[in-house]
Amino acid sequence: MKIESRLAQIGSQSEPGTGAVSFPVYQSTAFRHPRLGESTGFDYARTKSPTRKVLEDAAAELESGDAGFACSSGMAALQTIFALFSQGDHLIVSLDLYGGTYRLLERIMSRFGVTATYVDTNDIDAMSASLKPSTKAILIETPTNPLMMITDLERVCSWAKAKGLITIVDNTLLTPFFQRPLELGADIIIHSATKYLGGHNDVLAGLIVTKGKELSEEMAVLHNSIGAVLGPQDSWLLMRGMKTLALRMERHQYNATRISEYLLAHPAVEEVYYPALPHHPGHEIQNKQSSGNTGIFSFRLKDARYVEPILRHIKLIAFAESLGGVESLMTYPAVQTHADIPEEIRRQVGVDDRLLRFSVGIEHADDLIADLEQALEAAKREVEGR
Ligand SMILES: *Cc1c(COP(=O)(O)O)cnc(C)c1O
Repeated sequence: MKIESRLAQIGSQSEPGTGAVSFPVYQSTAFRHPRLGESTGFDYARTKSPTRKVLEDAAAELESGDAGFACSSGMAALQTIFALFSQGDHLIVSLDLYGGTYRLLERIMSRFGVTATYVDTNDIDAMSASLKPSTKAILIETPTNPLMMITDLERVCSWAKAKGLITIVDNTLLTPFFQRPLELGADIIIHSATKYLGGHNDVLAGLIVTKGKELSEEMAVLHNSIGAVLGPQDSWLLMRGMKTLALRMERHQYNATRISEYLLAHPAVEEVYYPALPHHPGHEIQNKQSSGNTGIFSFRLKDARYVEPILRHIKLIAFAESLGGVESLMTYPAVQTHADIPEEIRRQVGVDDRLLRFSVGIEHADDLIADLEQALEAAKREVEGR
């Protein structure tokens, strides 16, 4: 069955008792046992909960994995995954990394003796050079955020496999609708489901999908032991959002492509970072390994003085952190999402004071372009003092 059909049908055939098309919210945390030694399959809601289970099974199927785990946020999912590692273990991590993941590794995991080296995951020589006897895994974001760097997943997964490393891919930006890294050799997928999967800026959630029996069983123990699990209401909201993922992603992609082309041609804009654009360095790899493009991109202005007035003058587009929702949001990564990343690394990847990130919503592209146009005009007037 095609992924559009599977998305639309999430949970719709999972309640034979009543025939409910929308799977119910099971609020219960305790489940009655028929007798000693027997269970309905549900005992206590942290371990397993009916509404969450429908979501987890759907996530595993959509990502072509063996088991899914729903967490209270993307960061909770990452923390659960990082609990696979022990004191002395080392990770290789994408250079242009989500700020929160960097903070978790550097402020918390480092205190438990788990260290990370940040490298360009397209540079096999650099990855080989950072390899240590204690290296256990590689964590990749592709595209990265905000600079939208693309990693060749098949190439890196086979390199990692040959070295005995676990490959973890943060698939938040493309979702399984456009990219399925487990099919390309990855072992673990993590999602901030708060973004495209939820899609409406109204539910905080994370998902883990694992491949292989051993890893899936180990993750189940960690998920239950740590307990940063997703509640039934939020599980339901997330499934509700996911039913329209295919439609939303197609519109996000269409709008982002049109608007990135508009900005690329604008005299105030120096560069646009969006893999759908043919001049993007990752364009070909992106086309090879994914069936589409995400709805966010970044652009660099020629003059940093434009940033403040643009953020003040946008009306339809909100100046807010986050991405992946139906509403358009603009972010200033250097002071918001990536503030926790040291200046030196930020400069190395190109997150500077002229860079803006745009999470393009599903509004009409003409309205979004008109909003950008008037904000850029107003910024020009102010900067030029007219
Ligand atoms: C937002 C985000 C996270 C963190 O997820 P939360 O749901 O905010 O905890 C992790 N990775 C990426 C790529 C993200 O965009």
